[in-house]
Amino acid sequence: MDLTGKVALVTGSSRGIGAGIIRGLAAHGAICVVNYVADAAGRNLADAQSVAHDSGAGLVVEADVSNHARVGAAMEEITARLGGIDILVNNAGILRDRTIRKMTPDDFHAVVQVNLGGAFNTLQHATSLLRPGGRIVNIASVAGFMGFFGQANYASAKAGLVALTKVAAREFARQRITVNCVAPGFVETEIIKEMPAEVTARFLEQIPLGRIGRIEDVVNAVCFLCAPQSDYVTGQTIHVNGGFYM
Ligand code: NAP
Repeated sequence: MDLTGKVALVTGSSRGIGAGIIRGLAAHGAICVVNYVADAAGRNLADAQSVAHDSGAGLVVEADVSNHARVGAAMEEITARLGGIDILVNNAGILRDRTIRKMTPDDFHAVVQVNLGGAFNTLQHATSLLRPGGRIVNIASVAGFMGFFGQANYASAKAGLVALTKVAAREFARQRITVNCVAPGFVETEIIKEMPAEVTARFLEQIPLGRIGRIEDVVNAVCFLCAPQSDYVTGQTIHVNGGFYM
C-alpha cells in the first residue's frame, strides 16, 4: 500500500485513533497533517506536535471542525504549504452521553455539530481542494447501526455520517475520489480504559473474536481505503468490531 507523496489530513489527530491513523498513513509514505483544537493550557498543541514529531508528519494545523470558515482556512493553508490534499480522514468526534430524558438540546446539537457537521464542513471545502483520484474516509461507529442506550446524539450523528458518505461517494465520483466509512466497535482508547471492568467484561461476551479492538485494527482498514488497492470501492462501510455487529 504505497502512499508516497500523498498529502493526508486527519481531523482530530492529536491523540487516540486519529493519532494512530497519522502513524499508519505516514508509515505507508503519506505526508500527514495533524489537526487539533486549541485549549487554554496548550495541551492539545503539545500532543499534536508530539504525534507529528513521532510520525514525521509534514504539518500541524489548528481547527475546530465544527467551524466552517476555520476548516476552510486550514485546508487552504495545507494546500498552499504542501501543494494540495489527496486524503481526508474525518475522525474528530466527541461524546456527551445522557438518556433522552436528560439530554439538553445543547448536548444533542454539540455532538451532531462535531461528528456530522464537522465532516460536512471538510467535505464541502474538499469539493474544490481535494485532488482528483483522492480518498475520503469517515470514521463512523457501531453505535450508528445499533443505537446504544444514552447515545441519541452520537448514534444519530454517526448514522447520518454513513448517509453523508453515500451522497458524497456519488458526488465526488466524477473526480475519481472515493468516499467510504470505517465503523469501529469498541477500541482500546482512553474512554474504554476508563470503563468499569464489569462493563468491559459484559461487552467482551458479545464479541465473537473475544477481544476489544486495537487502534491498529481501525488504522489497517483506513489505510486500505486510502490505498490504490481500494480504487473500485466507494460509498461503503467497513465494520471493524470483532463480529460484535454483523
Ligand atoms: P478521542 O481519543 O476522544 O479523540 C478524539 C479526537 O477528536 C481528539 O484528537 C480531539 O481533539 C478531536 N476533536 C474533538 N472535537 C474536535 C473538534 N471540534 N475539532 C477537531 N478535533 C476535535 O476519541 P477516539 O476514541 O480516538 O475516537 C476517534 C473517532 O473514532 C471518533 O470519531 C469516534 O467517534 C470514533 N469511534 C471511536 C470508538 C472507540 O471505541 N474509541 C468506537 C467507535 C468510533 P482534542 O484532543 O484537541 O480534544
